[in-house]
Amino acid sequence: MYIGNHLSSSKGFEHMGKEALRLGANTFAFFTRNPRGGAAKAIDPEDARRLQKLMEEHHFGKLVAHAPYTMNVCAAKEDIRRFSRDMLQDDLERMAYLPGNYYNFHPGSHVGQGAEKAIPMIADALNCALKPGHQTTVLLETMAGKGSEVGRSFEELRAILDLVELSDKVGVCFDTCHVWDGGYDIVDRLDGVLEEFDRVIGLDRLKAVHFNDSMNPCGAHKDRHQKIGEGEIGAAAMKAVILHPLLADKPFILETPNDDDGYAKEIAMIRSWGA
Ligand code: FE
Ligand code: FE
Ligand code: ZN
Repeated sequence: MYIGNHLSSSKGFEHMGKEALRLGANTFAFFTRNPRGGAAKAIDPEDARRLQKLMEEHHFGKLVAHAPYTMNVCAAKEDIRRFSRDMLQDDLERMAYLPGNYYNFHPGSHVGQGAEKAIPMIADALNCALKPGHQTTVLLETMAGKGSEVGRSFEELRAILDLVELSDKVGVCFDTCHVWDGGYDIVDRLDGVLEEFDRVIGLDRLKAVHFNDSMNPCGAHKDRHQKIGEGEIGAAAMKAVILHPLLADKPFILETPNDDDGYAKEIAMIRSWGA
């Protein structure tokens, strides 16, 4: 089972790998650049190679890099849209230093334009950024439906995927808090939700899981993460998710409100479930 959390990239790639090991993790997530800003620092190819070696030695699962929150490729304002598209393109070039991993991004917020207008914009940004030689799989994250977020339903994600040309380079990241907040009851009908995902999107597209409990009830559209077992989803349902045979080989990334010590304990608790 591949479990990890978000790590700070400020000390480089290899440092994150060591940090993951220290926390009992065998995958991790990191922001490709300042999550609230835009600037990206230069990549050290040697450092990237050292991380790849560490990952091989310790049998890591695929990494799940995360785009900055400022990225909105379907923004109403053209300058934000262009800035976001450039960032997406640049991030995918940078991911080439860590081939074979995942790059997750929020489809975006349509800010009043409506999802019908936003969906072709998101697909167009992907069609411009994706190149046949890329070895990174880009993941659309399932969203809670806060504000004007696109990706709150499986149908919206399907609509984006349908418009992407290099379709085999795009998958979905299943965020348990977001799916729950989006109205999918993974507590009482997990199998039904996964069946629905399979019918609408296809389970072969489900590449990674953001493993979060939620502070709010199903369908709340709030997006407030809670520690595993301390939220409205609860330990039993979270356990059923991570032990579900259809999700067995996926990287599970914690985005719970914890410090390092808290993450180490949370990972140990999840591993004690048999994960
Ligand atoms: Fe996210
Ligand atoms: Fe997430
Ligand atoms: Zn969230």
